[in-house]
Amino acid sequence: MPRIALLGCGGFIGSHFLDAFLTDPSWTIEGWDWTPAKIKQHLGHPAFTFHPGDLYTFPGLEDALAKADVVISLAAICNPSQYNVRGVDVIESNFIQPRLIADMCARRGKWLIQFSTSEVYGQTLSHWTGGGEAPASLYELDEETSPLLLGPVSAQRWSYACAKQLLERYVAALHREQGLAYTIIRPFNFLGTRMDFLPGRQGVALPREVEGLPRVLACFTGALLDRSPLTLVDGGHVRRTFLAVEEAVEALRLMLERPGMAKNKIFNLGHPGNEITIRGMAEMMREVAADVTGDESYLELPLVDVPALEFYGEGYADSDRRMPRIDKAANLLGWTPRRGLRGILRVVLEDAFQTHASRPIATVSLQE
Ligand code: NAD
Ligand code: UDP
Repeated sequence: MPRIALLGCGGFIGSHFLDAFLTDPSWTIEGWDWTPAKIKQHLGHPAFTFHPGDLYTFPGLEDALAKADVVISLAAICNPSQYNVRGVDVIESNFIQPRLIADMCARRGKWLIQFSTSEVYGQTLSHWTGGGEAPASLYELDEETSPLLLGPVSAQRWSYACAKQLLERYVAALHREQGLAYTIIRPFNFLGTRMDFLPGRQGVALPREVEGLPRVLACFTGALLDRSPLTLVDGGHVRRTFLAVEEAVEALRLMLERPGMAKNKIFNLGHPGNEITIRGMAEMMREVAADVTGDESYLELPLVDVPALEFYGEGYADSDRRMPRIDKAANLLGWTPRRGLRGILRVVLEDAFQTHASRPIATVSLQE
C-alpha cells in the first residue's frame, strides 16, 4: 500500500488532500502539523497517523520519512502580511527548514513533492513602462522560460518568494548532483473552504502583529460576515487567477498515479480562465453573499481603498498580474481545471455563512 508523508497536513491544502485521499483505501498517510484544528474529522482514521507539534523537532523524523514512498512538503509560513514584518521566520520556514527535508529525501532516496509558489515569478508586469496593454510574455508565466523577477531587498515582501526560489534551485541541484527525485509545484492562488482564518472568529483573537492578516479570500469573507467594508489595497487593481483547491488536489493525485510523468519537473497549477482584478473579486463576493443569504443589502457594502503602506506596513510590494501557462500539466498529466470562480466562491461563502454567521465574534483578546 503506497505510503505518503504529509508535512503541514493540517493546513488549507493539507486538509483538502486528506479529504480526497482518505476516501481511497489504496493510500496510507502519516502527517505532521502544529495543530489538528482543521482536520479533526480525520483523526482516528485507520489509514492516517497524525503527529502534532513542530515537525522539525519530531524525534526520528528522517527514519519516519524513510518509510514513506513519497514526501509532500507543505509546511511553511505563507501569509503575505508576514513577509515584510517577519522576514527571519519566513526565510527559516520557506528555505532553511524545508531544505533539511530535501536533504533527508536525497539521503534516503525518497521522492519529494515540494510546494513552492507562483510568487517566484515576482513582480512580472511591474516592469512594464511601455504604455498600453503589456505583451502577454510579461504575464503569461511558463515553468521553463519565464524569468523570476524579484524586487529590491528593502521590499521585504520578496523574502518569501526569494526563499522559495532558493529552495527550488537547491532541490534541482540535489537532483543533478545526488539523484534526488523531485516535483516542484507552483500554486497560483488556490481557493476553498478552510483557507487561513477569519480574524477574531476562531478562538482567541490574537494581536494583529502576532496573528497577521489572512489572504484576500478570508479578508473579504470576514468583512462580509461582519457587514464591514471590503478593503482594496491600492485600489484593488492588480489581477490574480484563482483555482479550486479540490482541482489542485486532483492534479496531485494524477502525479502520484503517474510518477514517471511527474518526477523531476516543475508544474504551474492554476486556472487562467479565472482571472479577475481584486476589485472585481470583491464585487463578485458581495453578489455571491447576497445570493447565498437572499439579502440584497450585501450588494451595498462599501469597497474602501487603503494604501498598501497602511494595510501591510513598510516593505510591502505587489505583483500586478500573473497568469499560469498550464500546458505542461495538461500534456503530461491530462489535467484541466474546469471550475469557475463564481461557483468556487459560492461553496466558500455557503460554508462561511452556515458556520459563522449566527455566532458572535470572539471577544477574548490577548491584548486586553
Ligand atoms: P497553510 O498555512 O494553510 O498550511 C501550512 C501548514 O503547515 C499549517 O497548518 C502550519 O501549521 C503547518 N506548519 C508550518 N510550519 C510547521 C512546523 N514547523 N511544524 C508543523 N507544522 C507546520 O498553507 P497552505 O495554503 O495549505 O499552503 C501550503 C503550501 O503551499 C505552502 O508551502 C505554501 O507556500 C504553498 N502555496 C500555497 C498557495 C495557496 O494558494 N494556498 C499559494 C502559493 C503557495
Ligand atoms: N488584498 C486586498 N484586500 C485585502 C487583502 C488582500 O486588496 O483585504 C490584495 C493584496 O494586496 C494582493 C491581492 O489582494 O494584491 C492578493 O492578496 P493575497 O494576500 O490573497 O495573496 P497574494 O496573491 O498576493 O500572494
